[in-house]
Amino acid sequence: MQISYEEFTRRADAIRRRIAEACLAAGRNPADVELLAVTKTHPVEAAEFAARYGLRGVGENRVQEAIEKQAQCKVPVRWELIGHLQSNKARVAARHFDRVQSVDREKLLAALDAAAAEFGRPLPILLQVNAGNDPAKFGVDLADAPRLLEAALGCTHLRVEGLMTIAPLGTDAASTAAHAARTFNNLRELRDQLSGRFQTPLRELSMGMTGDLEIAVAAGSTLVRLGTALFGEREVSAAPKP
Ligand SMILES: *Cc1c(COP(=O)(O)O)cnc(C)c1O
Repeated sequence: MQISYEEFTRRADAIRRRIAEACLAAGRNPADVELLAVTKTHPVEAAEFAARYGLRGVGENRVQEAIEKQAQCKVPVRWELIGHLQSNKARVAARHFDRVQSVDREKLLAALDAAAAEFGRPLPILLQVNAGNDPAKFGVDLADAPRLLEAALGCTHLRVEGLMTIAPLGTDAASTAAHAARTFNNLRELRDQLSGRFQTPLRELSMGMTGDLEIAVAAGSTLVRLGTALFGEREVSAAPKP
C-alpha cells in the first residue's frame, strides 16, 4: 500500500468536503450521497482503511481479485462488484458479493437469480445502463432498459435497488465534463421514468468517479465510486483486455 492510514483519512475527509459542497450547491443533503471506496488493484489494506474510516462498502471489478482479498480482510465490509461479469461467474459472484452493480443483460439476471435461490439469500443488484451511448462501454442501452428492468423485477431472488452508469471520456476536459453531465442526467431521467412506470423506487443512482464527482452529485447521484482520489493512481494492469 502506497499510503498510510493518516493520509487515507486526509483524502477521505477532503472527498467528503467535496461531496458536501456539491450537495450544498445542488440543494441536496450530503447524507444522501454514499462514498464507495474502489479498491481494485490495491492490496487488502485499502479495504481495511475504508472500513476503519467508517465507509460502508468497497467496490471491486474482478471476482477473483475480490475473493482473494475477502479471505485476508480482517474487518467486516460490504463488497460490491462494479466490473463486467461473465455469466459463467455469476454463481461465484452471488456467493461472494453483497451487491452486484454491473447487471446488464437477461442471461446474467437468470444466472444470478438461480444462484441466489440456491444460496437462500436475496441478492441486491443495480442495472448497469450505457447512459452515455458509448460503444466502448458495457451496460444495457437506454432503449432496452425497461425490458431488462421488467425481467429483473420478475426474478424473485434479486432485489433491484437502482441503476449504475459510467460516463464516456471526451477528448479534453470540457468534452469529458459535457459527456458526464449528459450521461448522468440521462440516467436520472431514466430512473424517474422507470420508477413511475414500474412502481418501484430504484433509489440508488450509482454514478460519479474521481474525475466527475461534482457533476454526478449535481445530477442526483446517491453513490459515488472513488478509487484514484482515495488511493492514488493505479498501476496499469498487465491483464489481457477482454
Ligand atoms: C475503477 C472504477 C471506478 C473508480 O475510478 P476512479 O477514477 O479511480 O475514481 C469507479 N467505477 C468503476 C466501474 C470502475 O471500474
